[in-house]
Amino acid sequence: MQYADIIIDISHEQLDRTFQYAVPPELEDRIQVGSPVVIPFGKGNRAITGYVVNLTDEPNWDPVKIKPIARIPSEGVPIESHLIALAYWMKSHYGATMNQALRTVIPIKQKAAPKEKKVLHLLLEEQQLQDVYTDLISRKRHSIPKQRLLEALMEQPDIPWDVVTGKLGIASTVIRDFEKNAWIEIESVRDYRNPLGTIHAPKRVEVTLNEEQEIAVESFAADYDMGIRKPYLLYGVTGSGKTEVYMEMISHVLEQGRQAIVLIPEIALTYQTVMRFYQRFGQAVSILNSRMSPGERYDQFERAKKGDIQIMVGPRSALFTPFPDLGLIIIDEEHEPTYKSEQVPRYHARETAVYRAKLTNASVILGSATPSLESFYRMEQGEYGLLRLSKRVEERNLPECDIVDLRQELMEGNRSIISRRLQELLADRLERGEQSMLFLNRRGMMGFVSCRACGEVLKCPHCDVSLSMHRDGKLHCHYCGYTTPMVSKCPSCGSKYIGGFKAGTQKIEETVQKMFPKARILRMDADTTKGKNGHQDILNAFANEEADILLGTQMIVKGHDFPKVTLMGVLAADMSLNANDFRSAERTFDLLTQASGRAGRGELPGNVVIQTYQPEHYSILAAAKSDYDDFYKQEIVYRRMMAYPPCAHMLLVSVTSLSDAEAAGKSQEIADYIKEKYPKVFLAGPHDAGIKKVNDIYRRILYMKSDDYEELVAIKDAVEDHNRDTSRYRKASIWFDFDPMSGF
Ligand code: ADP
Ligand code: ZN
Ligand code: ZN
Repeated sequence: MQYADIIIDISHEQLDRTFQYAVPPELEDRIQVGSPVVIPFGKGNRAITGYVVNLTDEPNWDPVKIKPIARIPSEGVPIESHLIALAYWMKSHYGATMNQALRTVIPIKQKAAPKEKKVLHLLLEEQQLQDVYTDLISRKRHSIPKQRLLEALMEQPDIPWDVVTGKLGIASTVIRDFEKNAWIEIESVRDYRNPLGTIHAPKRVEVTLNEEQEIAVESFAADYDMGIRKPYLLYGVTGSGKTEVYMEMISHVLEQGRQAIVLIPEIALTYQTVMRFYQRFGQAVSILNSRMSPGERYDQFERAKKGDIQIMVGPRSALFTPFPDLGLIIIDEEHEPTYKSEQVPRYHARETAVYRAKLTNASVILGSATPSLESFYRMEQGEYGLLRLSKRVEERNLPECDIVDLRQELMEGNRSIISRRLQELLADRLERGEQSMLFLNRRGMMGFVSCRACGEVLKCPHCDVSLSMHRDGKLHCHYCGYTTPMVSKCPSCGSKYIGGFKAGTQKIEETVQKMFPKARILRMDADTTKGKNGHQDILNAFANEEADILLGTQMIVKGHDFPKVTLMGVLAADMSLNANDFRSAERTFDLLTQASGRAGRGELPGNVVIQTYQPEHYSILAAAKSDYDDFYKQEIVYRRMMAYPPCAHMLLVSVTSLSDAEAAGKSQEIADYIKEKYPKVFLAGPHDAGIKKVNDIYRRILYMKSDDYEELVAIKDAVEDHNRDTSRYRKASIWFDFDPMSGF
């Protein structure tokens, strides 16, 4: 006999309240996780509808007392079924409890009372209204507000309350009077907040697709019309017009009465991007972003479910928009690491989108100028289709790129972080009144403080990372926020030759300012963007040409279009190469290619300077040529040789504890167990994580590699069981990460 755990109220508060029912043998084939079922509920055995969230052979209590499921409702498959099935897949595929998975997929219902909007509806027939009106104005001293409201109702029989009391300036007592006379009725309607409600978009400039764009859209549409649904890689250089292609494809899907989701990395979710969709599709579009309140987000999901909107644009979590007939999911900048969730379930939006699309018979478009190794590999394997845009729309030339060897600079006596070539070009741009950007790979990496006598580096007492010197004179930990005053003597040897070494963004700003006293410099990093709009304010100021140079970390290279920028300087390209992580070459290539793409987007030709300590590294050479294919060819050889994703799968196990010994003990215990039970699987570790301690929590890791994803899932399940039943280390916890993006 099979038993089903069923939830009857799909809201965040009730997700863990399940009720067990028996599955009648004749329904067994038709019931899966997600299926809607009708069950007899409560004392009176009221028939109500619920959803299956788990199936098991083991009853929770006396099987005689468990009631059977009555039937399967006859209506089609509701959206809730899809979302529950998706949650179940995420739970099994990434590791989580069903509850955690459901919480990720189901939005939080707002606690506050929903907003209401009142509307006046005219109840009188046209002739009756005329009579009332004539009667009123025939009186000598009649009420003017009454007259005005009657006139308004003659023009428009349904008027929002707010308009009447606001724009028309009519007191609510007058309205209530009308209501008493049964001339009107007042209806309260649920008011869904619309984040784009007040936008007035300028009219869209019509574009005619060029030949490559046309081919991409046509081949997608031809497949779609033949019922072929699959993921496609839209591989197109920056500025090749991918967004225009997305919008055509969306149109095609909307025409068939279906809906579309557009995922965009949060950082690229700018006013300009949203505006392009809004200009084209108007009220059919809504957005999600992390600054919205839970209530506002919930409203957007409700609007999608009711059919008020057809397109949702947003970051990772927009993937769970409950559209009734989802036909297309677009993932822009699909290579972005932020598409992987850092919370359990640690899902990847790309894979999850592909699965959701399968459930609802939708297609997926993965757009990028520098595709993830995963997507390009799957395309080569024939799992994904390929749509290619090889030319920039305006046929602009790629910027000219110099690679500068920083070791050489030092040898020739230049100790500054700005190479001579970069100085020369900066001076030239300032002279000509053009804009430049300076990109520092990774915040604070170079701001550390060390003793020049003994080499001691000052570290955070809670984390295994070096402290950074800030202009406030204090030392900061970027992991936990710890601060401490700068020391004047080395805590280890007492030498007074201790100080900030090299430069973080602040230090570079000072250096550049000294070099070019008249230059107007804007700095963008985690410290200057703390306010709600800090990020956008700086970008706007730079776009308005209020500065000559924009200096910053990662944030400045993502998808912003500044036509006046003709110079991009990458200050230390290889910082991200040193990260202890198999994806570091890919990250470096992405960042450098994106950075170069920032220079020369307008009419003017551009220059890029890449400063590096490893000028011969293939990711740097390929980025300097903006040659993805060249990079891919070399990188995939390394991944294949080392059996790293995408050529194989990987399961990372992290063991964390406040006690170093507990973390060490438990990780060893897990490794021993795996070696005994799965002697053939490749296992590395346990060893300390790249950053051994964060916030006083120690972390040890081990990882496995296998061609077979399901084998890794089986190992994860076995380790979880073993850990629950027999672990000797109770003060350490474990978590799993499949095909991890970071955390080594
Ligand atoms: P991508 O997303 O590939 O970086 P966009 O879609 O943002 O490229 O296009 C870059 C610029 O070119 C935009 O300003 C866009 O409006 C314009 N554009 C795109 N396609 C065309 C076209 N067929 N004709 C004219 N302009 C176009
Ligand atoms: Zn010292
Ligand atoms: Zn710290």
